[in-house]
Amino acid sequence: MTTLADLPLRDDLRGRTPYGAPQAAVGVPLNVNENSFGIPDVVRDDIAASLARVVSGVNRYPDREFTSLRHALASYLGHGLRADQLWAANGSNEVLQQVLQAFGGPGRTVLGFSPTYSMYPLLSSGVGSTWIAGERDEAFELGAETARRQVEQYQPDVVILCTPNNPTGTDIGLDVVEAVYEAANGIVIVDEAYQEFSDRESALTLLPGRERLFVSRTMSKAFAFAGVRVGYLAADPVAIDALRLVRLPYHLSALTQAAAEAALRHSEVMLANVAAIAAQRDRISSRLVELGYAPYRSAANFVLFGGVADPAGTFSRLLERDILIRDVGLPGHLRVTAGTEPETTAFLTALAEIGNDA
Ligand SMILES: *Cc1c(COP(=O)(O)O)cnc(C)c1O
Repeated sequence: MTTLADLPLRDDLRGRTPYGAPQAAVGVPLNVNENSFGIPDVVRDDIAASLARVVSGVNRYPDREFTSLRHALASYLGHGLRADQLWAANGSNEVLQQVLQAFGGPGRTVLGFSPTYSMYPLLSSGVGSTWIAGERDEAFELGAETARRQVEQYQPDVVILCTPNNPTGTDIGLDVVEAVYEAANGIVIVDEAYQEFSDRESALTLLPGRERLFVSRTMSKAFAFAGVRVGYLAADPVAIDALRLVRLPYHLSALTQAAAEAALRHSEVMLANVAAIAAQRDRISSRLVELGYAPYRSAANFVLFGGVADPAGTFSRLLERDILIRDVGLPGHLRVTAGTEPETTAFLTALAEIGNDA
């Protein structure tokens, strides 16, 4: 039988493991930080009608510049942004990949602050860049001095700041972004995938005058649109121009563009459950403390908690009860997404029943 070792794979990809969050059909999926609430009927109907309108024209390539979607994203974000400061792709993973293709690449370095989003090292190695796992402060916080010191030490070509950070939930102040930008000569990406759940001000306010800054967002989390695959970013129009050098032509399908525009027309309805989800997140944190676990401060729609005697055991005992959470590979820790009220109750009740014995 052929194995990967028999194929002429790139040397730098040998021995690497792909992204692999388990995908299991369970009653209570709380493992990949999706929005547990489905699409409201009024939005579903508008999306379906919009798709029906474009589908008869899919014999033609879509608008390569997705102009009308960029206008819609600019007005959704506000902050005085114009359409030429917006860019989108199939999930923010693709957006980040394009930034790394343009500004990372072979022989270059990408710095992030661990533990952080597991895709950053994979995206870096995919473009031939070296990932540098920087350190955080106590309790996975990240202060301006800690971040600045490491940017000065490593002089990376790209820095990725994830805020609120996955998997820790901790967010950072704009002072950290400013300090990193000042210290860096390269590109600074702020990944705000969970920004809608945070009370902190967005790094979008820092864009004027900072042409090396990219602020990325996604429709996959708060916006309840993970299945459609739409991520986007805001940056200087010249920085965005660089992404045209690496994107595939017509990378956003006509169907994706139409669905995203329809959803954005209903952004208030789509975001209606953000406060309810944040309330479930806070409920999880308080209850975890009562149960003897050590949750970290979270500004996102999930909670990372330590003090787990046997993470693999707890994970599988929850799975036996039809509840899927995430083992992010941190010893003694697990991560759980805040779901609907019944989902959250199911998780907390099961966790209390299971107990915390090794
Ligand atoms: C989920 C997530 C993303 C994005 O996902 P897409 O579905 O590709 O938009 C990006 N960054 C972080 C930190 C995430 O957790």
